[in-house]
Amino acid sequence: MNANFLQTPITYLKGVGPNRADTLQSELGIATYQDLINLFPNRYIDKTQYYKIGQLERHTADVQIIGKIIHVKTVEQQKGKRLVATFADETGEMQLVWFRGQKWIRENLKLNTPYVIFGRCNWFSGAFSMPHPEMELLSEHEQGLKIAMQPIYPSTEKLSNKGITNRVINKMMQQLFMETKGEFLETLSSELLQELKLISRSNALYNIHFPKNQNLLARAQFRLKFEELFYIQVQLIAKMMLRKQKNKGYTFDKVGQLFNDFYKEHLPFKLTDAQKRVVKEIRADLGSNAQMNRLLQGDVGSGKTIVAVMSMLLAIDNGFQACFMAPTEILANQHYSGVTELLKGIDINCALLTGSVKKSARKIIHEKLESGALHILIGTHALLEDKVQYKNLGLAIVDEQHKFGVAQRSKLWHKNAIPPHILIMTATPIPRTLAMSLYGDLDISVIDELPPGRKPVKTVHRFDSNRLKVFRFIREEIKKGRQIYVVYPLIQESESLDYKDLMDGYESIVRDFPLPEYQISIVHGKMKPEDKEYEMERFVKGETNIMVATTVIEVGVNVPNASVMIIESSERFGLSQLHQLRGRVGRGADQSYCILMTGHKLSTEAKTRLQTMVRTNDGFEIAEVDLRLRGPGDLMGTQQSGILNLKIADIVKDNDILKTARYYAIQLLKNDPSLEKIENLAIRHTYAQLIKHKNIWNYIS
Ligand code: ADP
Ligand code: MG
Repeated sequence: MNANFLQTPITYLKGVGPNRADTLQSELGIATYQDLINLFPNRYIDKTQYYKIGQLERHTADVQIIGKIIHVKTVEQQKGKRLVATFADETGEMQLVWFRGQKWIRENLKLNTPYVIFGRCNWFSGAFSMPHPEMELLSEHEQGLKIAMQPIYPSTEKLSNKGITNRVINKMMQQLFMETKGEFLETLSSELLQELKLISRSNALYNIHFPKNQNLLARAQFRLKFEELFYIQVQLIAKMMLRKQKNKGYTFDKVGQLFNDFYKEHLPFKLTDAQKRVVKEIRADLGSNAQMNRLLQGDVGSGKTIVAVMSMLLAIDNGFQACFMAPTEILANQHYSGVTELLKGIDINCALLTGSVKKSARKIIHEKLESGALHILIGTHALLEDKVQYKNLGLAIVDEQHKFGVAQRSKLWHKNAIPPHILIMTATPIPRTLAMSLYGDLDISVIDELPPGRKPVKTVHRFDSNRLKVFRFIREEIKKGRQIYVVYPLIQESESLDYKDLMDGYESIVRDFPLPEYQISIVHGKMKPEDKEYEMERFVKGETNIMVATTVIEVGVNVPNASVMIIESSERFGLSQLHQLRGRVGRGADQSYCILMTGHKLSTEAKTRLQTMVRTNDGFEIAEVDLRLRGPGDLMGTQQSGILNLKIADIVKDNDILKTARYYAIQLLKNDPSLEKIENLAIRHTYAQLIKHKNIWNYIS
């Protein structure tokens, strides 16, 4: 069947009128034949089995029964009428019940005629009943297409109200297969089909909708999942290869004086093996003639800054400038002091550019940048302004924490004819499989090891009823000179309520920790940015003992003297947020603590989250649990990014298929970068179709 035929509007399908077409479009996004074929069942039910009424048990779910209707009546109720039919086979009787469409059903039901009914059975006041069963005359049932496994398609209330039941969708699918003769263009190469022992596309589509048996169903699922993930990977990898090929990067072929000098004379500590490995990976990228686009993942405190510094030194050694962009002013300040500290005694010019830099100072920075007198520029998105022109920017480092979009990032490199190398740093561990899809066009480095001698943060869970003990503990820590964070959730929908919680909490802390003995800062989203900065600064400088805040502090402040993180209503936070918050402490030499406060009522999921936090400090392990609990949809706002628009594959469960798909996508494009080989014609066509209709960035950015 040719591809154009599949673009036929769904109204042309026999049995689909304009009304149904509208509903299909609005509820399931089905506009064409193609869309219908790609509506994959959620699950399957074994339809080779017919139950007897006498066999039904209370927990039997969906069942198929042959029998006759022996009686119909309308039952008046307070809530309205319902139609009740008594349905019988030779082993017993049960009730079929309708709340909607009663008149039509009553007129059309045939008494004492064999029917096959199908649906979910309820046990209700001593009898079995089935609401809104799907019904078919036995005579028709016997003529219908025999399938062992009954597919169950996604449904919505509106669909079933409009009479588009599972059976109707099934009928439409049968019609579609008749009109297309069940022949669909192959989208994979015969090489792949052979190597992976995949069934053909036609065969797979047939068996996904009308499985002949379990085995064929499994093979159909594998084939279609593979195909879906394969084409995502082909797009990502093609993009990466195109970038490497087209975007000739600057070649930093010298490991020069500055780098060597720093490495030999100025390293403040021994690098961890992970840091060494990552520096090596970056060096290899920078030394090749392709543009680097690398994601550096490393948990909070894993030591990304020094990696950034060494990378910048490589750029400067080769006669280029470097910039380092952070999402907030506070972070930019911290990076600036961190970097200048590391570069002490080395002859390099480094400047800070943020919104608060005065016009006159700004002008000087702009000039020095253009003349090349300035080697490193650190700052906020102020770096993206048009006035900021480099003499020769060779490396851009983005500390992103998911604050910058792809578009903003690329603004950095549109400044040059040849794009600078890009290093994106993130402290949010992303499970590998997800990273493969989300950042599949980037190279990935991971610092999976903390510097030695770090005392892991001790994490405990405490109930609100133990607050007095917690306060006593805080007092002891403050007496030792430590500082404390107390964080409240602030979640959009109930903002005013949350705000009240925060203020109540603040007042009670002020009561328990009175002036002048205790100084308390408060920071929340409703404050003016200047006021926020001011309060943060007070805490950073050690002028206040306690910082009461909403999650605004999540984004990387560094106060090594803070040793206790108290998270209020911690059951309301997601795992990655909890982990990020905990990362604010444990940065100094002292033992640090994270105290998760909750009420007594906790959901199972909340318990799992709390237990995970108490059990481990490993960000990747936490990310895996998070992925399992929530699915990839919610992680890092991938919901909006729509990575979940997958039709059949599941990034978490189909992890292995994803890896296979990525492997074969890489092989394919290595051997045939522009898909010219005759044996890859099918792939070439499918790929062209795909990027025409749905660019990969619809999945991602
Ligand atoms: P990140 O940016 O990844 O959160 P940083 O680069 O800020 O982490 O490093 C956190 C702290 O650990 C800093 O105080 C830094 O000096 C220290 N540090 C980094 N690497 C090492 C190491 N290999 N050995 C000892 N301390 C280190
Ligand atoms: Mg950092």
